[in-house]
Amino acid sequence: MQEAPVSFKLRADRALADPTLKIAIDRTTGTAERKRAVAMTQFPQFEAARERGKRIKNHVIANLDHYLLEFERNAIASGAKVHWASTAEEASQIVVALCKQANAKRVTRVKSMLGEEIGLPHALDEAGIERVETDLAEHIVQLGGDRPSHIVWPSMHRTREQVSEMFKRAHRVPHQEETIEAMVASARRELRDKFLSADVSISGANFLIADTGATCTVTNEGNAELTTTPPRVHIVTAGIEKLVPSTEHAFLMLRLLVRSATGADVTQYTTFHCGPKQAGDRDGPEEFHIVLVDNGRTRMLADPALKEMLRCLRCGACMNHCVVFRQLGGHVYGGTYPGPMGAVLTPVFDGLEQSRDLAHACTMNGKCQEVCPVAIPIPTLLRGWRDRSWREGLEPAAARFGLGIHTFVASRPRLYRLGTAIAIKVMRLFSRGGLVRGMPGLGAWTKYREFPAPAKRSFMAMYKDSEGKR
Ligand code: SF4
Repeated sequence: MQEAPVSFKLRADRALADPTLKIAIDRTTGTAERKRAVAMTQFPQFEAARERGKRIKNHVIANLDHYLLEFERNAIASGAKVHWASTAEEASQIVVALCKQANAKRVTRVKSMLGEEIGLPHALDEAGIERVETDLAEHIVQLGGDRPSHIVWPSMHRTREQVSEMFKRAHRVPHQEETIEAMVASARRELRDKFLSADVSISGANFLIADTGATCTVTNEGNAELTTTPPRVHIVTAGIEKLVPSTEHAFLMLRLLVRSATGADVTQYTTFHCGPKQAGDRDGPEEFHIVLVDNGRTRMLADPALKEMLRCLRCGACMNHCVVFRQLGGHVYGGTYPGPMGAVLTPVFDGLEQSRDLAHACTMNGKCQEVCPVAIPIPTLLRGWRDRSWREGLEPAAARFGLGIHTFVASRPRLYRLGTAIAIKVMRLFSRGGLVRGMPGLGAWTKYREFPAPAKRSFMAMYKDSEGKR
């Protein structure tokens, strides 16, 4: 999953130098932020619902073994086959084996970030099975040969002008008019016969409902129904943390998820799948498989801090409101999951050594936690990764040396005052127009950010004056 060997900093440099990317990011995140804000004014129960949602998820996580077994029992009773995968590789192998068993030449997929996490697109391509992404944004990602850059708007890194070009090159009967409607119609023409001729469908799940064994998937395009109904075999892949005790609990979580993700009251389509086609059903798959994926989740469960992340609903609100994500976009993060939640999850999946820069890229402004519908303390979790990176000796020697000097000086008040006075004088030498510019050693900061020139008088000097006056 990791995009190494290109480093996070290099990817960030490239993203910052791309003005088209910035336009694309601003359009989508700006709209998402505005819509969520309006949705919240019409949902005064948000805080109470959030508290309840948090309690439900905490309860499920604390009793995961119980709910997993209950879900498995009920899913099997409905006719589903349940498979367990402890790693990403195992999960994608199970799915590919099921596709081969069904002699699948073509599979349709409804967007699932878990599929990306387990490397399913690549595994299917390697197995020579044609993969058709049916979500409009995923279709754009597939045509562009790249990866999703957002968990709700996977192609947000593309402007509509770029998408228009791509459709004109790739579609059999492309659009003539430069309107969104004409472009959507072009995608629909391109995908329709593929929906109907697929051998297997693969979907994700937003929720796994323990007391019925059903899976719940939300979409705004209706492609979950269209993808999963015609093929003979339907495979659901889902992380084990997606459980809720009952349908009633799923509906409460949906109220939080949908408003946070798109700012709508409800998604256009909420689809429940429960077992394969039954006698008397007019349509539906003959085989229904559910692949339950661990891939590091039980490790998170054992960690008192990281287990909070298992509450995540994958709504994307934290990234829409993150000042860093809004400058850089999602590809820069390098892993499957971008933004603040990705900065917490990527070290779990790809290792801290590969991804320690992500925690350092956070400004700690706390906006992600404020908008999170299940109150995940993301800044605290990122501080935890920073701390661990330090304790495991992963920080560069220069940073360790610099902090060592700082600790030495800061614990000796006289030396600290002397050092600060010298630093202020040097900074003033490099100050122009109220900002420090071109000062040796500060380039990594001042290249992209403002560093205010020191005030004429220090806080301590002003404080002493005011004390004297009193
Ligand atoms: S961490 Fe919270 S805000 Fe971010 S995707 Fe998960 S649920 Fe949504």
